[in-house]
Amino acid sequence: MEELPLPPGFDAAKVQQAMRAFVSALGQDKVFLEDEDRIAYHDKFAIDDTHHLPLGAVAPTTVEEVQAAVKIANQYLLPLWPISRGKNLGYGGNAPLLSGSVVLDLSRMKKIEFDPESGVVTLEPGVGFYDLYDYLKQHDLPFWLSTPGNSWGSVIGNALDRGVGYTPYGENTKNICGLEVVLPTGEVVRTGMGAFPKAPTWGVYPFGFGPGWDQMFVQSNFGIVTKANMWLMPEPESLMGMDVEFDKPEDLKAMVDTIGPLRRERVLTQSPSIGNWLRAAAVVTRRNEWTDKPGALSDDVIDAIRKKFNIGWWGVSLRLYGREEINKAAYKVLEKAMNDIKPMLIKPTSWVKGQPKEHSGWTGTPMTFPMQNVNWYGGRGGHIGFSPIIPQDGTKALEQFNRTYSRYKEYGMDYQGSFAFGERHLINVNAMIFDKDDAEKMKRIDPFFRALVKDAEEMGYGEYRTHLDYMDLVAKTYSWGGGALNRLNEKVKDALDPNGILAPGKSGIWPNRLRKERGQ
Ligand SMILES: Cc1cc2nc3c(=O)[nH]c(=O)nc-3n(C[C@H](O)[C@H](O)[C@H](O)COP(=O)(O)OP(=O)(O)OC[C@H]3O[C@@H](n4cnc5c(N)ncnc54)[C@H](O)[C@@H]3O)c2cc1C
Repeated sequence: MEELPLPPGFDAAKVQQAMRAFVSALGQDKVFLEDEDRIAYHDKFAIDDTHHLPLGAVAPTTVEEVQAAVKIANQYLLPLWPISRGKNLGYGGNAPLLSGSVVLDLSRMKKIEFDPESGVVTLEPGVGFYDLYDYLKQHDLPFWLSTPGNSWGSVIGNALDRGVGYTPYGENTKNICGLEVVLPTGEVVRTGMGAFPKAPTWGVYPFGFGPGWDQMFVQSNFGIVTKANMWLMPEPESLMGMDVEFDKPEDLKAMVDTIGPLRRERVLTQSPSIGNWLRAAAVVTRRNEWTDKPGALSDDVIDAIRKKFNIGWWGVSLRLYGREEINKAAYKVLEKAMNDIKPMLIKPTSWVKGQPKEHSGWTGTPMTFPMQNVNWYGGRGGHIGFSPIIPQDGTKALEQFNRTYSRYKEYGMDYQGSFAFGERHLINVNAMIFDKDDAEKMKRIDPFFRALVKDAEEMGYGEYRTHLDYMDLVAKTYSWGGGALNRLNEKVKDALDPNGILAPGKSGIWPNRLRKERGQ
């Protein structure tokens, strides 16, 4: 047996007592404390395998069992780390931030209720994108999902980390309309119209009366979400668009300045994402097929790869959803806008209801092929993402790219970057792909990540989401008013979670009892 990663204030005897309490409340088959169990809850993409070690896991199947687990955690002052399906790869997977925490694995809670009139689905956290996709198919329901590049995870889990998909419903956290939450003290609340007994409007009016709480439970550690209403997109009559490739790194400026206004005017209602050549290439080839030289790839190798796959330095997919007549008119607007900025290639695409669908994020089909990118370097692959929010401005995007690309070269890394449009912002997602078996390169990841955080901070750009390793670092960059926001977060934390048992350290929010762990 390996050494147990003990939570603060615990010894092996106290762990055994707490685990016996879990077994007696939930049953042996819902408590996991063997070495194999712990390994199953490690972050498979960890930069340092000695961090974020779970003590074990418990997997309740009902709200009452979640409450029972919370009661025991309060009794023993044992930190719980809730996950829905725990596929948060690139941001920590299913591992807890604080070593010694018990993972509260909600993946066995899999109920789905659907109201086809309003297009509102009520989900438990264990429902994955594949489960919901199958459910809609089985019941012949004409609604589409908004799936992330790795759709192995949970619909709720993704929305709770502000994940994104690629249809007009792409900002998944905005599709939440009412939550059921177990608070750290064990009490259950329903937000919005859910607080009104028998209200038939829980899933259709997001605000209720008084303060709105849904977003308080997103990226926080204030409660355990056991149910969420989510809006689904009605199947459109038509889907039209184009995949567009551009030849030079500098083309990024014109792309952003052309697509941005179309997005803000809502000619485009989905969230296009401009990605560089490696985003496309890393899922179809491996680095050692092109070179064995260390350091960032040279331009001639990049050119050879692009030529073979006929891809631009940047590519973007634009899609129009809705009535066919309107899409046809809007397509002309897109086509002219793209031709005006001289793309290398435009590949049109068109679908109408009744035809077989393309299996992609544009049709909300779950997918996992993008995970192939972790094989780029060979070995045990992984990646972490550095994702600052930047203004929707071509010059600023190009400057951000140039700054980041130089850092990739400085640290000898191949650049995989993208710029995903929100309605008024860009999320600049930079994937740092690595091979965990390359010890020398693994040592460079942490200083590289920190350099990027610092560069972005100087520009006023903060990350929208980050890996467990960097939650304190990133929270600290949100420093206006001497860190007023984090002080507010921690005031709320202490009020809702007086024993500090829920996800200590998540998003840089530490409970009073464990504040000394910050930055450890
Ligand atoms: C190649 C690749 C491509 C990817 N592409 C995308 C992409 O396009 N878009 C995107 O958004 N992500 C992407 N990801 C990241 C990630 O895999 C997905 O976001 C995935 O959906 C997250 O896992 P999950 O849904 O199982 O969430 P979980 O891991 O279950 O949850 C995420 C976090 O939310 C909190 N949480 C979860 N459930 C609860 C709950 N019930 N109560 C309270 N807190 C909770 C926890 O802190 C948890 O750690 C990608 C990853 C890879 C490797």
